[in-house]
Amino acid sequence: NKQVILRDYVSGFPKESDMQVTTGTTKLKLPEGSTAGVLVKNLYLSCDPYMRSRMTKRDPGASYVDSFNAGSPITGYGVAKVLESANPKFKQGDLVWGMTGWEEYSIITATDSLFKIHNTDVPLSYYTGILGMPGMTAYAGFYEVCSPKKGETVYVSAASGAVGQLVGQFAKLSGCYVVGSAGTKEKVDLLKKKFGFDGAFNYREEPDLDAALKRFFPEGIDIYFENVGGKMLDAVLPNMRVHGRIAVCGMISQYNLEQPEGVHNLMHLVIKQARMEGFLVFNYYHLYGKFLEMVLPAIKEGKITYVEDVVEGLESAPAALIGLFAGRNVGKQVVLVSRE
Ligand code: NDP
Repeated sequence: NKQVILRDYVSGFPKESDMQVTTGTTKLKLPEGSTAGVLVKNLYLSCDPYMRSRMTKRDPGASYVDSFNAGSPITGYGVAKVLESANPKFKQGDLVWGMTGWEEYSIITATDSLFKIHNTDVPLSYYTGILGMPGMTAYAGFYEVCSPKKGETVYVSAASGAVGQLVGQFAKLSGCYVVGSAGTKEKVDLLKKKFGFDGAFNYREEPDLDAALKRFFPEGIDIYFENVGGKMLDAVLPNMRVHGRIAVCGMISQYNLEQPEGVHNLMHLVIKQARMEGFLVFNYYHLYGKFLEMVLPAIKEGKITYVEDVVEGLESAPAALIGLFAGRNVGKQVVLVSRE
């Protein structure tokens, strides 16, 4: 069973050498008498920014997710096939998505958080992205937290990524004007040409973020979907409109800093009577059925599209994961472990 192990806890930017790919010879088996677990073969694994926080050593319960165990395989979202099941809810051959291990085979005991995959006429990897956790994040954050209205102006940072590309497309479906930012020309082109954003800019090439935002939003921003934090948030705050909403999804620019950057412009929340609200996708999974009812037909009818960046093999997983923090991924970062 090939595995990706976290060698030791990380501070600062993670490196490939913080992880190690090992090949064990023990064959996994469900424990005798198990009544809940499943043995799965992992097909696709998901690289997600929140995994960085699990690489830091913290006391159990200190954050919304616990630290990984150093010396053990990394865990994360993935798509897998059930090989053996002690749980009456799953049978051999079922396809599932949810929390699994960064390894070829895993025993999953926390089966309550596994979703059975019923629709297989879309790429299976989609269940790590548009039809999985990032898709639900875009859906919950945009519709539930931002309460968009037709004609409103929407700004999305890290807009070409797993979550952002969908937020932009949801905004267009809702009749909003949407602008996104990303870190390369290729990504900016994707935003405009593939995802239908009304405007897009490369934040790395803008010496003055405030001026860039004023260019795209002369009347201000109604909704900011925050993925980045730091200087970006500071630039957005004075550009919010009265009664604007900021959904704080994440702040990837801060995840590798020992000392988070300060935010200076919070007073603009008062001036604009704006609402800034953080959210965690885990609390919205009850909406998954409703979400699928909207997104699956939209994919099939070509109304929503999705870009993935798929690397092959567990050996490629460490570089893919740390690449998120350098913006190397173009679209949703996926690791293909096995096609079947
Ligand atoms: P992405 O697919 O967008 O990948 C991360 C991207 O972030 C990179 O490609 C890069 O794009 C950008 N980035 C990296 N470092 C920086 C930086 N210092 N400054 C600006 N941009 C940077 O990731 P996801 O779509 O999966 O996640 C987006 C955000 O959503 C993250 O903050 C994540 O933590 C959050 N999230 C929150 C959830 C919740 O429940 N609240 C659930 C899932 C995700 P670029 O080239 O454009 O810089």
